[in-house]
Amino acid sequence: MKKIAILGSTGSIGTQTLEVVRENKDIEVLALAAGNNITLLEQQIREFHPRLVGVWAEEKAEELKSRIRDTGTKVVSGMDGLLEIAQIEGSEILVTAIVGMIGIRPTIAAIEAGKDIALANKETLVTAGHIIMPLAKKMGVKILPVDSEHSAIFQSLQGSRRSEVKKILLTASGGPFRGKKQEDLLNIRVEDALKHPNWAMGRKITIDSSTMVNKGLEVMEAKWLFDVDIDDVQVVVQPQSVIHSMVEFVDGAVIAQLGTPDMKLPIQYALYYPERRYLPGDRVDFWKIGHLDFEEPDMGTFYGLELAYEAGRTGGTLPTVFNAANELAVSQFLNREIKYLEIIEIIEDCMRAHKTIENPTVEQILETEAATYERIRSRR
Ligand code: NDP
Repeated sequence: MKKIAILGSTGSIGTQTLEVVRENKDIEVLALAAGNNITLLEQQIREFHPRLVGVWAEEKAEELKSRIRDTGTKVVSGMDGLLEIAQIEGSEILVTAIVGMIGIRPTIAAIEAGKDIALANKETLVTAGHIIMPLAKKMGVKILPVDSEHSAIFQSLQGSRRSEVKKILLTASGGPFRGKKQEDLLNIRVEDALKHPNWAMGRKITIDSSTMVNKGLEVMEAKWLFDVDIDDVQVVVQPQSVIHSMVEFVDGAVIAQLGTPDMKLPIQYALYYPERRYLPGDRVDFWKIGHLDFEEPDMGTFYGLELAYEAGRTGGTLPTVFNAANELAVSQFLNREIKYLEIIEIIEDCMRAHKTIENPTVEQILETEAATYERIRSRR
């Protein structure tokens, strides 16, 4: 039995991870964590019998405790709870399916405890990649990508040497507003931005996909995961989302991974790496697809992507500013407090106002996050 723990078990990636567990029957779930959704968490506890569960909100944790008194599961809360889950004895892999920079400390704690990381929580790597990657190397733990593009790159890299890689070709669907110009985006509503053409995902990443900020975060994520220069990560719009990403090698060969848009494939690959297992579901039908299209990203309209390259090139605390500004701006947009185009305006404003600290510690990253939030909140 493989033993795992999952942060963010009630979300899109978390529930799909549990589907993979359910289908395979040889993975034991030792611990789960969620933010607030104790109704779903209770169902998961009754089905998967974890030893430990974490709920971020203290009062919800208390409520869950009384609901599951008949089970043997212990309930913890807050950051201490997440850290306990990340380090739970016996677990081999921590699946980081939580949203946002809140994942930094638990991810570091898990690596320090020698756990491999199945990483969906890209915000952690974007902001603290300079701490996480060397630490993982030192501890001899694997960082296994769950993001479909990074899994595709990881799969395409199997059997090759780092010195043979020329560049990473990171594919993007272009999101629901592909082909639109700035003036078309003036009055975008929350429900318009939540309609992704190909993938069903959590709310934050769906908005990030529509602004192409998600692709920007993925460019920075790829830099850390595959140890490449940010300018050797090239975004290629592939509207059908059939090619999940590609690698160009020094001899000109391009290797790609293709598939249907199903996150269970990269999740399962990360959990069983290097083994491949049968996965039920649709297969790529080339006759039905007929043709594949490719486009250059429109960095003028979607200049959040350009800002991400800038943040990634500068490094230090600037990617934290980019990410934190986006996290808060997206949540304000989802709460209908700001307009769609303000998301990127806010990111740019915060980046321009910031004085970058090189090689920041976790404390400096978290201080930068807080200062960025403060600046955005004092705008109105
Ligand atoms: P969701 O919003 O669907 O799920 C987020 C999960 O995190 C939920 O279980 C939520 O709990 C939990 N959570 C949020 N805050 C806390 C907290 N403070 N403490 C404990 N748990 C918390 O997000 P996604 O699954 O879409 O995304 C998760 C991560 O994976 C993100 O970093 C995203 O960028 C990345 N990713 C997602 C993909 C996708 O297809 N969805 C694809 C590639 C990457 P609750 O339900 O109680 O709120």
